[in-house]
Amino acid sequence: MAGVGAACCPPPDVDTDDCLPEYRPLLSPDVLRGRVALITGGGSGIGFRTAEIFMRHGCQTIIASRNLEKVTEAAKKLAAATGQRCLPLSLDVRQPQTIIAAVDEALKQFEQIDILINNAAGNFLCPASALSFNAYKTVIDIDTLGTFNVSKVLYEKCLRDHGGVIINITATLGYRGQALQVHAGTAKAAIDAMTRHLAVEWGPNNIRVNSLAPGPISGTEGYRRLGGKHCEASSRFNSIPLQRAGNKTEIAHSALLLSSRPLGHRS
Ligand code: NAP
Repeated sequence: MAGVGAACCPPPDVDTDDCLPEYRPLLSPDVLRGRVALITGGGSGIGFRTAEIFMRHGCQTIIASRNLEKVTEAAKKLAAATGQRCLPLSLDVRQPQTIIAAVDEALKQFEQIDILINNAAGNFLCPASALSFNAYKTVIDIDTLGTFNVSKVLYEKCLRDHGGVIINITATLGYRGQALQVHAGTAKAAIDAMTRHLAVEWGPNNIRVNSLAPGPISGTEGYRRLGGKHCEASSRFNSIPLQRAGNKTEIAHSALLLSSRPLGHRS
């Protein structure tokens, strides 16, 4: 029998952008068999682990970001560890034409795309007083407009006719306000609002739209910038009920639960 509190222990993870050395599936290993997921920013951090966990549950993936070399390298690791297909593509979520080109390319290789994880984002720590007009705009452009741009392209090319799932990765930092994060907090709050609007408008097309808002997640660039392991010794986690950072596998598992079909649903 698992020990007291074991349910709150994080699942195994590794801090680098590498696949897990071993993995016990959270759900049935074929829960996403036959599905294809597009994960923006899937070459690193939370996006990489989400691609891995989806693939370990039978999904094929497309991972897309600006740096083709990075996503190509990541796709090789993911395919080798899971035996599933992973297509790396280049796009900039701020530029609709690059999204359209990437989705067209993906649709030459896969019949359809069922799941979209809007994970790409830019962030850095900066006091509002030192933030340039351009720096603030850039984060809104990547996070908020980027999420809308990719959602709209995928809606028009696939989801409107076939249904599917959209998960927007947001953040908890804007819930109460947090120093040095006005740009990211504003951008993510706007995405949460966008999620609710799209869920209402696109629900009738059998599209589930949800946000998934992580707190600090270990093994990511964002966490390292926040001070990494030193955070754990500080009082930074006092306001988090579990008193610790999350890990990438936990977020990937949450995305998996939101993407999986309801029991008894076979289509
Ligand atoms: P990460 O490793 O830095 O991943 C972000 C990804 O986005 C990168 O792979 C990057 O790839 C891509 N990207 C950035 N700008 C892009 C653009 N214009 N077009 C296309 N792709 C772009 O970050 P992470 O820490 O795993 O974060 C993943 C998500 O979780 C983000 O939405 C973040 O806000 C959210 N989050 C993270 C934490 C945390 O503690 N890490 C906490 C709360 C929320 P390229 O450079 O190749 O484009």
